[in-house]
Amino acid sequence: MQDDPGSMTCEVVVVGGGPAGLMAALAVAATGAVTVHVTGRAPPADNRTTALLAGSVNALTVLGVWPSCRDQAAPLKSLRIIDDTERLWRAPEVRFDADELGLEAFGWNIENRHLMAALTHRAETVENLARVDDDAAALALDADEATLSLAGGCTITARLVVAADGRRSICRAAAGIEIEQRDYPQAALTLNLAHGRAHGDVSTEFHTPQGPFTLVPLPGQRSSLVCVVSPEETARLKSLGHAALAAEIERRSHSILGKITPDHERGFFRLGIETATRFAARRVVLVGEAAHVIPPIGAQGLNLGIRDAATVADVVAAGRGEDIGSDTAMAQYDRLRRADVTSRTMAVDLLNLTLLSDILPAQGLRGLGLYLLSQVGPLRRAFMQEGIAPAAARPHLLRGEAPG
Ligand SMILES: Cc1cc2nc3c(=O)[nH]c(=O)nc-3n(C[C@H](O)[C@H](O)[C@H](O)COP(=O)(O)OP(=O)(O)OC[C@H]3O[C@@H](n4cnc5c(N)ncnc54)[C@H](O)[C@@H]3O)c2cc1C
Repeated sequence: MQDDPGSMTCEVVVVGGGPAGLMAALAVAATGAVTVHVTGRAPPADNRTTALLAGSVNALTVLGVWPSCRDQAAPLKSLRIIDDTERLWRAPEVRFDADELGLEAFGWNIENRHLMAALTHRAETVENLARVDDDAAALALDADEATLSLAGGCTITARLVVAADGRRSICRAAAGIEIEQRDYPQAALTLNLAHGRAHGDVSTEFHTPQGPFTLVPLPGQRSSLVCVVSPEETARLKSLGHAALAAEIERRSHSILGKITPDHERGFFRLGIETATRFAARRVVLVGEAAHVIPPIGAQGLNLGIRDAATVADVVAAGRGEDIGSDTAMAQYDRLRRADVTSRTMAVDLLNLTLLSDILPAQGLRGLGLYLLSQVGPLRRAFMQEGIAPAAARPHLLRGEAPG
């Protein structure tokens, strides 16, 4: 892999050391391709959790990651949606139970720091995967290869670049791919907390006129909270003293988990939607938030990123021995990801719009949709199935199989 101290040659270079980049590096390396992972500078502390859907857990299992973090994850056996809008047309409470689909759980919720540690630990043991802790500074793309220049002076030549370098992706810019972007009038406060009552493996999403307020189980009597409100309200909540914040969370959660003891660490995220106009071009495929950013509603963001990573691995496995960065491979990846990303983005956007809307028909539409889901078993089961395993995206890893 190493040519001389200043330059390296490989088949695939993955740029970005977030969860999507680590998944992509492991997934691509699982095809046998010689892979270099350029991780960038260490990311800031992240107190978020990820609700990993069942397909994502299948992928982590095949890649040998899940055994080392399974104990730090809590199963999500039921999901409740409660209309807390106090509007004229309120939706009935809807409950989805995994056992209705014959599943143990819809997915598992894990703190990102535990997931990252397990991914990193596994990546260190894979022979055909080298890690470079440096920033990508520039990317040159030509007909036969891509050349990545690192901040430290090294260059890496590869047939394919997997851009997992986040929202401000320099690899995406080098490939000439634009993004469509829309800011939401909302922000999210994230924190983890202990509570007096057991969560019973049930995740509860209160729909409020400012956005969802979602409690997701963690192991023991702990849960993670994502509270979506206006940016001003998020800032106010973030600045509250410990006891005042605990009281505010207990009030907003209608005391369903009893006495609340929040952790001290609090996260703040402005929300919006970003979608790349293409998911691959000129030897660069986009993965994770370099390709799509969606608000934290319905736990979709990183699950989409994991499906991106699994799809890249399938494209690489199918194209090995040929040019894995060819225009044909780029078109194939773009086609394989479009329906999944577009449908998830639209669903999350629509749900959020109907929450924020003061227009009665929009509220009625959401209420009717949730009413039908609560009453019509086959519709509810189809909705749940689509939520955990979208028909538009079934890469091998998501099905619990090696890439191919
Ligand atoms: C409040 C909140 C809650 C969420 N909850 C969920 C959930 O429950 N389930 C779910 O599926 N998703 C969830 N998400 C979405 C999920 O967190 C994101 O999809 C995920 O973190 C994105 O990972 P990423 O690796 O694509 O991006 P990032 O984590 O941003 O990683 C990008 C990486 O690239 C590196 N980088 C940048 N530039 C360079 C460079 N030039 N060279 C080298 N490296 C570079 C950065 O240092 C960083 O490490 C949530 C999001 C929010 C905001």
